[in-house]
Amino acid sequence: MKLVGSAQELSEICQRLRAQGRQIGFVATMGALHAGHLSLFEAARHRCDAVVASVFVNPTQFDDPEDLRRYPRDLEADAEVAAGSGVDFLFAPEVADLYPGERVVSVRIGGPLAELYEARSRPGHFAGVATVVAKLLWLVGPCTAFFGEKDFQQLLVVRRVAEELCRGVEVVGCPIVREADGLAMSSRNVLLSAEERRAATVLRRALSAADLAYRSAERDAAVLGERMMATLASEPLAEVDYAAVVDGSDLSGIGEAGPGSRAIVAVRIGSVRLIDNAALGDL
Ligand code: AMP
Repeated sequence: MKLVGSAQELSEICQRLRAQGRQIGFVATMGALHAGHLSLFEAARHRCDAVVASVFVNPTQFDDPEDLRRYPRDLEADAEVAAGSGVDFLFAPEVADLYPGERVVSVRIGGPLAELYEARSRPGHFAGVATVVAKLLWLVGPCTAFFGEKDFQQLLVVRRVAEELCRGVEVVGCPIVREADGLAMSSRNVLLSAEERRAATVLRRALSAADLAYRSAERDAAVLGERMMATLASEPLAEVDYAAVVDGSDLSGIGEAGPGSRAIVAVRIGSVRLIDNAALGDL
């Protein structure tokens, strides 16, 4: 595996790969790699013949400076993990390389995806995501980009970025990888204390409550949302941001749940904000 520090060098490498007719698979990460990230590398390895990954803690997508400051970073460990997981090129740029000088170019998104749920709770977050993803897709020029369903709203935003700005890039959504007790893997999980870590299983339990009710033929989305809320209320450390059952194609509200409906949840536990989601009937 080759570690690439500059955008210019990455661009040249990827041009060469494409000229050789290699199909590039791309995975964007913010590092502190875990099994969730590795599942994306594996999917890319399986589908493509060159795997490019990035490790970049993108400052423009953080709405909270403290969250950015303490975000876990360990490039040496990440490079070792990526090298053992089929990544051919690991791009780890400095902030100034992707955002030179004054930030004059950015991607703005509109519509409900820019207003609902994560967008409402984290102002500016998806503009930061859309901007960095557009920059990375332009640099790499992959055939296929792999993103996790863990960040479900982000996946919908990225699909729109690819469709509208980077036609020809196929965006593949990959399933959520969980810990043995059901907690979705996340780089932020290491920031939880032992007590908070135990409490964090409540997200998955809330999703399971909605899933169970759905399997028992409950179709009223409001009732399914209440089941989630009741489970979350049983955990004193959980401060709920939202819990709802929505249309999985665009996160719009629904009356009746059915195939394609998605349960989504965001909770703050201590100082750590956690998100999770599941397709109903899928847990
Ligand atoms: P991050 O480093 O958190 O920005 O995540 C980089 C990519 O990995 C994103 O596409 C995430 O959705 C994906 N990802 C993060 N955690 C998981 C997980 N537990 N399972 C599957 N994909 C994940």
